[in-house]
Amino acid sequence: MSMTGYFTHPSFRKHEMGPGHPECPERLDAIDDRLLISGLDVALDRREATPASTSDIELAHGRMYVAAIRGLNAELKEDIAAGGADHLQIDPDTSINIHTWTAALHAVGAATDAVDAVLAGEMNTAFCAVRPPGHHACRDKAGGFCFFNNVAIAAKYALERHNLQRVAIVDFDVHHGNGTEDIVKGDDRILMVSFYQHPFYPLDWQHSSAPNLVNLPVPAYTKGMEIREMIEAAWMPRLEEFQPELILISAGFDAHREDDMGQLGLVESDYAWMTGRIMDVARRHAQGRVISCLEGGYVMSPLARSVEAHIRVMADV
Ligand SMILES: [Zn+2]
Repeated sequence: MSMTGYFTHPSFRKHEMGPGHPECPERLDAIDDRLLISGLDVALDRREATPASTSDIELAHGRMYVAAIRGLNAELKEDIAAGGADHLQIDPDTSINIHTWTAALHAVGAATDAVDAVLAGEMNTAFCAVRPPGHHACRDKAGGFCFFNNVAIAAKYALERHNLQRVAIVDFDVHHGNGTEDIVKGDDRILMVSFYQHPFYPLDWQHSSAPNLVNLPVPAYTKGMEIREMIEAAWMPRLEEFQPELILISAGFDAHREDDMGQLGLVESDYAWMTGRIMDVARRHAQGRVISCLEGGYVMSPLARSVEAHIRVMADV
């Protein structure tokens, strides 16, 4: 039995936001190819995600918001039937196509299925290769390529449905996980630690000073070694003190030096190091339980190489 799960679904390749959009289906192909070529795929327990229920999504989002996203899907269907455009724009960089609703349900479902599998002891760790990503989805607002907050929902799901007491969220995407912050701030059953390029997208976000958040804003061109030192000083003591029973990762790889979406200087060895430090905490406090969900990462080769490095540490192979 493999101890690392790999959760994905065919609908993730059908959701797309128009020609040339950086958050594209090819990202998942690049990751899949890399796992095959490297031989890492044989170490993974590959599972097809099930769709999340509306009630699970509403653990982190308002009922009216979820209904509104469902309504946009219905509206788009009618538009297409009437000969209209095949995308519906939500904000300047986020839109839906006819497959988005299904993909979004399965992206949440991948994360909650992984919670079920890990807490049942079927596997220790899991990577959810999902699209759309989630960490910019606020309680009542989509944006930044995100509709439902996969990781925040998974955290609430572990607390509410599995009766865990403490869940940590680690967000190492180059962008601030404003949606996750919006949903978890002030919930002291959740500790969220992150670093992100600042000032940067989302520019209009009012950062919270809630005590369950450890935010490390870093300027453009910060290198991996500097970020490692900050993580060691700021994340690690808080994670140790918190003693999480489960760790969720918002795994964006757009802080990579070769990813031109952001201007930070991380490389594969930095992702491996961060994953190792997260695993250290998980082994001490959480029975090794770590679930990682894909967020950003927009240049195919560094994305795929970084995901490989990340999963290799989680799977310990
Ligand atoms: Zn990002």
